[in-house]
Amino acid sequence: MAEVVSPAGILPHIPDDLTLAQFILDTDHVRKPVRTSGAWIVDDQSGRKIGVEELRTRTYGLANALSIRYNIQEDHVVLIYSPNHVDYLVAAWAAHRLGAAVSGANPLFTVDELVYQINTVKAAVIITHPDSLNIALASAYATGVSADRVILFDIEGVDTAQRATVQVLVSQGLASAPNFTERKLAPAEGKTKVAFLNFSSGTTGRPKAVAIPHYAPIANVIQLATHHKVGEDYAGQRFKPGDVCCAVLPLYHIYGLVFNAHYAFFCGMTVVLTAKYNFLEFLKSIIRHRITHLMLVPPHIVQLCKHPAAKSYDFSHVRYVTSGAAPLSREVMEQLVEVFPNADLGQSYGLTESCTVISTWAVNKRCDLSGGAGQLLPGIIGRVEKPDGTLADFDEPGELVVKTQALALGYANNLEATKETFVNGWLRTGDEVKMNRKGEIVVLDRLKEMLKVRGFQVAPAELEGCILDHPDVTDTCVVGIQDEYSGELPLAFVVLHPDATKRVEENRQAADEIKTSIMKHVVDNKVGYKKLAGGVEFIDVVPKNPSGKLLRRALRDKAREMRTKPKAKL
Ligand code: AMP
Repeated sequence: MAEVVSPAGILPHIPDDLTLAQFILDTDHVRKPVRTSGAWIVDDQSGRKIGVEELRTRTYGLANALSIRYNIQEDHVVLIYSPNHVDYLVAAWAAHRLGAAVSGANPLFTVDELVYQINTVKAAVIITHPDSLNIALASAYATGVSADRVILFDIEGVDTAQRATVQVLVSQGLASAPNFTERKLAPAEGKTKVAFLNFSSGTTGRPKAVAIPHYAPIANVIQLATHHKVGEDYAGQRFKPGDVCCAVLPLYHIYGLVFNAHYAFFCGMTVVLTAKYNFLEFLKSIIRHRITHLMLVPPHIVQLCKHPAAKSYDFSHVRYVTSGAAPLSREVMEQLVEVFPNADLGQSYGLTESCTVISTWAVNKRCDLSGGAGQLLPGIIGRVEKPDGTLADFDEPGELVVKTQALALGYANNLEATKETFVNGWLRTGDEVKMNRKGEIVVLDRLKEMLKVRGFQVAPAELEGCILDHPDVTDTCVVGIQDEYSGELPLAFVVLHPDATKRVEENRQAADEIKTSIMKHVVDNKVGYKKLAGGVEFIDVVPKNPSGKLLRRALRDKAREMRTKPKAKL
């Protein structure tokens, strides 16, 4: 029967009385490797290096100012609506020092999307980037957050004189008498005290705020470190002090936040933060910063394999490349060997709800690259359940259900969704997998509704809500079609309003006009990756079961039949 207690190692003690800020910046409770480089963060563009003393000082100054000027305190939520920035984690840790939680939002979100997030988490302040300021202000206005609670990250050359910036606040906080007492946690409190509210649609419905306690990212860092034997002295040590990783992954996503940033800090590595991903610039930064470790998503890997520019660089210093957040085929992995001849290559699999990595693998190029999603991390128990609830056999397909120390608490203010996904301490992943006796997983399919476009979640229910606002539509169902570059693309099946049907019957051109108009409606209201790049198809009726539930799978199969795979776009 497919239930496995990970054989990958025994976990050391996981502190349950520390905030993430204290765990990463302040303590040596768990044996950490001794750093060889003072640079914790390097700004990709300017080359500015920041060490731990500066991070601690800035975190303290900002926390003090957030307390004095905005009265940020216990359980308030600091929403960060920004691309990666050298002060992004300073802002998060400052919130933690005050007992507040952090919610990261995609800086390209539209007003509609940001308003939803601000309202869901009840943000007390919004920290944003100058490029996102207008949408931040419009969303703040729409949600009753006063405009002076919108704070800017500082960008060289951008005039921010009219508004409070993180730099100004850090200076004010450092110049003022202490106005707060650092929030300390009682024993075991780390397991319930919320650190992050990251968004995920889970099994079904619109995106929900996943309540992640401080203990969860700390546990995942320790699970990863135990799996990789970090700190032990053995040849081939994969993550060690002095290594340098890129952070093109956004810090508002759990993969960037935990694996790419906090885990790397724990290992004594330097993290090169990139604000805006641009493929050709990215290639140059790998060389410029002598990057040794790359944490990526499949579209990055596809570009690295297919774009001719990647062949003109010598990447022999790169020692590790992992792909996560969405599936990656073995064929693509094999091409990657040509680009990174000295790197261990692999994949990592996880969810926001499991506070990141559940399984990982990487092997040297000479080994077999058929590793699927890798082996369960230490401390994780995995079981595979068939649709009737019984356990599948080893290597038999079924839903992966896991027990992990890094588990989120559930979906904030959504008991019903929480009960479906978080069951007696187990997490229903909504992913169809097969697993062997060693706890090695191959992801076969997604059972839940969620689509993954370029590693980003797209919730069909959210797009359906948007499409239903279009005057020509009476019903709709959004499904994913496969795409080599993006992984999946959203396609909408649409039932037309009788007036629109009449127009189409009278004039053939009207069909194209209506499709274009529906696609534009989505583009106008949602962030770019949610656009209906898979197209719009008219149907007479959306198939539903007797209780009214959409028969999504039937339409997904129909869409896959209708569409041959679109070509990869570079
Ligand atoms: P997120 O919460 O945004 O990280 O999305 C989690 C979902 O991404 C998982 O439930 C999977 O469906 C998918 N996913 C993550 N990593 C992988 C992987 N390595 N292979 C296949 N699917 C993945």
